[in-house]
Amino acid sequence: MSTSLSDILTSDQRELFTKLTGSMNRDQLIWASGYLAGKLAQHAGAVEPVQTETITIAENVPSLTVLYGSRTGNGEGLAKKAREIASAQGLAVTVKSMENYKLHDLPTEKNLIVIVSTHGEGEPPLAAKGLHEHIFSKRAPGLEGVNYAVLALGDSSYFQFCQTGKDFDSQLEKLGATKKVPMIACDVDFEEPAEQWLKDTIASFATDSVVKSSNATRAFRMDQSGQKTVKTEASSFTKKNPFLAPVLEKISLHGKGSERQTLHLELNTEEAKDLLFEPGDAAGIIPLNPVALVNEVLQVTGQQASAPVDVKGNKTTLYEALYRDFELSKITTDVIGRYLNLKPNAELQKLVEKPEKYKEYLKGRDIVDLFQEYPAKLSAQELILLLRPLQARYYSIASSPKAYPGELHLTVGIVKFEDNGRLKHGTCSNYLSDVNIENETVQLFIESNPAFRLPENEETPIIMVGAGTGIAPFRAFVQHRELSEKRGKSWLFFGNRNFESEFLYQAEWLEYLKSGALTNMSVAFSRDSPQKEYVQQRLFENAPEIYKWVEEGAHIYICGDMKKMAGDVQAAFIKIIEKQGVMKKEQALEYFDNLQKEKRYQLDVY
Ligand code: NAP
Repeated sequence: MSTSLSDILTSDQRELFTKLTGSMNRDQLIWASGYLAGKLAQHAGAVEPVQTETITIAENVPSLTVLYGSRTGNGEGLAKKAREIASAQGLAVTVKSMENYKLHDLPTEKNLIVIVSTHGEGEPPLAAKGLHEHIFSKRAPGLEGVNYAVLALGDSSYFQFCQTGKDFDSQLEKLGATKKVPMIACDVDFEEPAEQWLKDTIASFATDSVVKSSNATRAFRMDQSGQKTVKTEASSFTKKNPFLAPVLEKISLHGKGSERQTLHLELNTEEAKDLLFEPGDAAGIIPLNPVALVNEVLQVTGQQASAPVDVKGNKTTLYEALYRDFELSKITTDVIGRYLNLKPNAELQKLVEKPEKYKEYLKGRDIVDLFQEYPAKLSAQELILLLRPLQARYYSIASSPKAYPGELHLTVGIVKFEDNGRLKHGTCSNYLSDVNIENETVQLFIESNPAFRLPENEETPIIMVGAGTGIAPFRAFVQHRELSEKRGKSWLFFGNRNFESEFLYQAEWLEYLKSGALTNMSVAFSRDSPQKEYVQQRLFENAPEIYKWVEEGAHIYICGDMKKMAGDVQAAFIKIIEKQGVMKKEQALEYFDNLQKEKRYQLDVY
């Protein structure tokens, strides 16, 4: 009888087993095989004996280390995929987040895959910062004997596309490591190319290692056909296969007289039993384009709605493709590149060659602007080839699954602005705002955010700082804590424009303060008085108490705008530490650095 991993283990056990064995080094695997043999002996006679191929670890089982560093779960997801592929190829694979990686292990690696994303304007994500700094520092080790390959994640709408991946790729080589395969720069639609690259890259590591160690024994059982039996776990709801969530409620959170709008949306996820999430996670929403914008694109390009087109091998009409499959509300450098390739245009070329002007031009412009300002006659299929696939948008989940089982809540700021003489709409926020709650569903999946988590010990104090819709995950945090028996104290700092119209979830916060789920709340409204008031002011006013909480072990969470707010709030915390802790600037910076290292200062900003 031949038994595969998937026959004998439950899916939970299989995941644990693959995770555990995948993370073990050679010695640990040898110890574990002995331990399991002992366990089996204890059970002799009690169970039907299974014919097994003894798990033996030969002297030179090839090893592979996969290091990932990314802000979202994408890097981790790919690292897990790499583990499955490598395990199936018989490699002893170790998967590690860069933030937990011991820097002095780097020169001892044999085969290394680096999976790293790029943050903001070309910076490494927090998890990759330490390793990135290390390889560029004077202490950087020589890496002769290390074979490596880099998978870079990024978004080509940013000028510094995949910059951190490029940094790793060139610096590892400079330090003496051998580039096994060229770096892949993955755009937002990364899944398929990334997986293919991992398969090819790991195969090339494995082939090389097999040549070097022809006696290497496979670490996993084989089925009768000799196929390796470690299977890929299929997660049921993904970007490619989203859950279609009915809408339960759509409520405007702004009071009368507000010049903008924020929506509270409640989605029904009861039917999606394995759509699991935790406070801090985000929901990916796959939007549809506004019909009015689709019609404008058809008009400005002189195309027929019914023109037949091919989208990744599927035949459809141009209208359907523009409505469902492609970005219309922004133009990015890759779109302009393809546009110029199809129809060279001297004017546009001139603009592209002036980076500052070009950057400015791209802000707020959409496909209609491009065709209006730089007209070109394209066929319907050429138009499709020019465009970028429509991307999911991410919103921090505003509800705790413990408090609202079978539901998922979102806080959505509606984006509308005037640009280039036209009224423009944020694609997803307007899609959600227009969704018909009687008969439409919203396509969603979960984007795990392990870097934004409540403390494991529920008694640990928490300080939450949210501006605007950045309040969303804190609603989930407080709901979650309300149900804990032994909850620690919590302090919410919230900033928005006006008290009257933009105090998001005001009634709920008052209830939470009453019930004790929330201990303190401080608010700042920036446009109620001539002098702007931001959350930082409230932090400074409460500096002694805040420092006391931090000294007691409080975890700090920041959510909202990345460009200005996050940096200014960080500067405020450093100042508070410096002053209240009576420290020099450098000591305060080190103290803050340690907070980050201990994962006590966590960000959900974009
Ligand atoms: P917003 O209006 O841009 O900002 C909210 C408040 O912050 C306003 O009172 C604003 O004041 C103030 N502010 C501006 N600059 C600041 C600074 N340097 N320091 C402190 N406060 C400052 O908020 P929003 O339009 O709701 O946008 C929130 C941001 O959160 C967006 O960038 C969004 O992408 C991000 N985000 C949203 C979610 C979500 O799930 N919805 C999750 C994570 C992040 P003034 O405008 O009066 O100057």
